[in-house]
Amino acid sequence: MEKKTSRASLCVQAGWNPKKGEARVLPIYQSTTFKYENSDQMARLFDLKDSGFFYTRLQNPTTEAVAEKIAKLEGGVAAMLTSSGQAANFYAVFNICEAGDHLICSNTVYGGTFNLFGVTLKKLGIECTFIDTNWSDEEIEAAFRPNTKCVFGETISNPGGNVFDIERFAKMAHKHGVPLIVDNTFATPINCRPFEWGADIVTHSTSKYMDGHAVSLGGAIVDSGNFDWEKHHEKFPGLCEPDESYHGLTYTKAFGKMAFITKATVQLMRDLGSTPSPMNAFLLNLGLETLHLRMPQHCKNAQTVAEYLEKNERVAWVNYCGLEGNAYHELAKKYLPNGSSGVIAFGLKGSKEDAIRFMDSLKMISIVTHVADARTCVLHPASHTHRQLSDEQLKEAGIAPDLIRLSVGIEDANDIIADIEQALEASK
Ligand SMILES: *Cc1c(COP(=O)(O)O)cnc(C)c1O
Repeated sequence: MEKKTSRASLCVQAGWNPKKGEARVLPIYQSTTFKYENSDQMARLFDLKDSGFFYTRLQNPTTEAVAEKIAKLEGGVAAMLTSSGQAANFYAVFNICEAGDHLICSNTVYGGTFNLFGVTLKKLGIECTFIDTNWSDEEIEAAFRPNTKCVFGETISNPGGNVFDIERFAKMAHKHGVPLIVDNTFATPINCRPFEWGADIVTHSTSKYMDGHAVSLGGAIVDSGNFDWEKHHEKFPGLCEPDESYHGLTYTKAFGKMAFITKATVQLMRDLGSTPSPMNAFLLNLGLETLHLRMPQHCKNAQTVAEYLEKNERVAWVNYCGLEGNAYHELAKKYLPNGSSGVIAFGLKGSKEDAIRFMDSLKMISIVTHVADARTCVLHPASHTHRQLSDEQLKEAGIAPDLIRLSVGIEDANDIIADIEQALEASK
């Protein structure tokens, strides 16, 4: 099962390895707590001297098996599941940033992440500089400060569909002694593994393609194990200096390559919660078992639909990195050679009202606040997910007021196109 296993086999098989007489299918350990035989056994768990399950807020066998599957799919050393993608991104950053620290983030990230970093982290004393990935290296490097602790971007941005130059940003982050964190939600490890390009930490909203059916919220943090925290000891005291809440244990010394995920689990999860339920982890695992089959179909359908839209005279513009001539086509060829995702951004000629009339005329395709699941859906970010952002912020985030986000599902592409066509006709 180890190194040489293909991603397809990992999707189906990794994580849960039953022994003699145990359930073949990953069981749902719907239990908050776990039994031990004496007080000392339990005490050793609390001192992190032994590993084992003791309370589901920290770890649970169902959740743990799914985390291990995701770690293997990304090619990382360890992973932790969270109750949502928001929690994953928060913990990934908060694990190494504290009041007085600073991070750098691409300005085209998901609206929820933009608010988290720009507004909520600020209240905790952590400052974020949003940069435009089209700036020159010099312009971006000018954003680094002595207290910068990480750089953050999305492999494929939601909803703009911009492709992040992972290798370039990894080099810049490393030059300044900090890790690169990449949110790999849209690409999934089926289409891109950011660690292969130098990223250090990967995060996911598993609520999207990984779950794939829009049934459970979730998130994941994966560590490559590659970043040398000790080499930059003074920047990362939380990992490299004793934790008083564990009798002075030092994560890097006690856990080596597992330091980042161990700290996130035993410190952040212990203190802040955001634990996924075992039931949701089970549903996520069901989704993961077919991720390698669904992703190519999403991409194939999206390519067909994007090419259709591009040719349609009612359509003003289409942003899909699979299209020749797209600004991100070259980066997509490098990082996403087998396809990007099912998400297309496009605009119709006419006003915002025309866009709304078009969406209201769709029949099979529904308007939902979701993206990246089996069913094709649409959303108008300016009036839905991103309505908190000002026009100026929308522009900065690469979101035109007329942008329609179309998440292409795995129905028959002809039916998806037929629905779009009748809605274009009906909304004339
Ligand atoms: C949806 C999403 C999130 C937030 O995840 P939730 O599971 O909804 O909390 C974060 N990043 C990206 C890229 C997303 O698409």
